[in-house]
Amino acid sequence: MQASQYFSLIVPVCGVLLGLALVVCWTVLRQHRYLLWLAAAYILPAVPLAAQTLMSNEQLARTAVLLGAFYLSGLWAMAQGMALKYGGVAHPRLAAVVGVLALGLLYYFSQVTDQLRIRILVLNLAMVLLLLLGVMAVYRQRRPVHGLERLLRASYLVFVAYSVLRPAIVALFLWEGTLPELSSSPLWLLMLAVNLLLSLWFIAVLLAVSVREMFVILKHERDRDSLTQLLNRRAFFEQAPARMRQPGVQWALVVCDVDHFKHINDSLGHGMGDEVLKLVAQVLVQHVRQDDLVVRFGGEEFVLMLRCTDLEGAVAVVQRMREQLALESLRLLPQPLTASFGVVMCDAMASLQTLLRHADTLLYEAKRAGRNRVVSSLVALSPATVAPAVVQG
Ligand code: GH3
Ligand code: MG
Ligand code: MG
Repeated sequence: MQASQYFSLIVPVCGVLLGLALVVCWTVLRQHRYLLWLAAAYILPAVPLAAQTLMSNEQLARTAVLLGAFYLSGLWAMAQGMALKYGGVAHPRLAAVVGVLALGLLYYFSQVTDQLRIRILVLNLAMVLLLLLGVMAVYRQRRPVHGLERLLRASYLVFVAYSVLRPAIVALFLWEGTLPELSSSPLWLLMLAVNLLLSLWFIAVLLAVSVREMFVILKHERDRDSLTQLLNRRAFFEQAPARMRQPGVQWALVVCDVDHFKHINDSLGHGMGDEVLKLVAQVLVQHVRQDDLVVRFGGEEFVLMLRCTDLEGAVAVVQRMREQLALESLRLLPQPLTASFGVVMCDAMASLQTLLRHADTLLYEAKRAGRNRVVSSLVALSPATVAPAVVQG
């Protein structure tokens, strides 16, 4: 074995190691199945790359179809991984047609007539076609993508562009003259070096994307209530102050408590209680705007921060929520579900705790007044300065 062959083996070994790194990433981010496809894209081509490095041209001819199958499935795994990442699929039927045609040609040009140049071109063209199936899926997706994801997409495009250039280079340099032993030719070494560099670059971007996704998931789990998917108390105290500081924007703070919820649990079971809580969350979310906050504060208690110009506007929104809740709940319950609400306008001078305490006082006034109603008040500085409450059923 020549020294250059030892060197060439570095590339497939790196491919396998990088692929395994992606499998490890997937064990953490199990819902991101695209990582497994991309791992396959690194590992599958490593097999023929290693084999080719050690084989003579004659041995290459004998194994052309098998090695071609490894390359093609690896490249399609790459296209499929990228397509999945961006919410699509890389046209498996079309890929199968390209694969079968290419393998048929490889069989012909290895077993019937031994034409290494044509085999190289056929294989490379088929690989380009398979990669293009991924490009189509990646660019068809509509959701806005983060900067890092755009970089990943661009890196994939660079990889595709290189794959288009490769057969052209091969045609240019290998078409004339006698054919060298491919595995020790400078062209093969150059191709391996470029492959390695592109693979390392791609995996660096991919790992950055995965780390970011991990942070997004962890932050989501930290900030959300797992039953209703609403923000939790912790996220509320993190996000509310910044909203209150926004100049020229008025916020209403709403505290909501479901009436006689314990009775629902006791009579219809805890499972139905959970369904009702999810329904309440849905109804509340339906009535708010994008930067309003809807929070499950605990148990069957919810807190909302609504951007609005005055208390009347806020109360009108809350009344609509209350009516909608009663209506929608009939899908689950024999009787309409009711809830009580306390509403205050946020005063920039008052602390969040003071505002919450005041809204809570109004909520309990609503409970005392017979439940299923909204109680609101303008002033929220301290209990001594609390304005008379307005009770609306
Ligand atoms: P009120 O009209 O005075 O608010 O009465 P209530 O029955 O709604 O209030 P209470 O505080 O007596 O009971 C609340 C119940 O909510 C008690 C608790 O077991 C139940 N609960 C809290 N969290 C959950 C949950 O996640 N799922 C379910 N199913 N029940 C919950
Ligand atoms: Mg309650
Ligand atoms: Mg309660």
